Amino acid sequence: MSDNPCLSCGACCASFRVDFDRSELESEGGRVPDGLAVELSGRLVRMRGTDHAQPRCAALSGKVGEKASCGIHDWRPSPCREFGERAPMGIGDDACARARARHGLSPI
Ligand code: SF4
Ligand code: SF4
Repeated sequence: MSDNPCLSCGACCASFRVDFDRSELESEGGRVPDGLAVELSGRLVRMRGTDHAQPRCAALSGKVGEKASCGIHDWRPSPCREFGERAPMGIGDDACARARARHGLSPI
């Protein structure tokens, strides 16, 4: 959909940590490819790349602020499913605005 602002953004996928229960991993019967996640303590895992000094989810394709998409849209973890089109938050909310500002993009 050309009017979906997320398709020309992707900032939240390159701003925040994305943690979820390991039961969502393919190896545990879920759908998130194991290679895209890193181990945390206990049952938690994290999308690879989201805790780097300059975060960027390993599943994100394209260039933030121009054309970006989730490479595992149909298999993305619950934090990304629960909010927004493909984001760990809601389009236009405070976190969205913070993520966009981090990448020099104006709020929507
Ligand atoms: S939710 Fe906001 S920050 Fe995330 S991709 Fe969409 S417009 Fe960008
Ligand atoms: S929506 Fe996709 S690219 Fe964005 S944080 Fe979630 S898994 Fe990563």
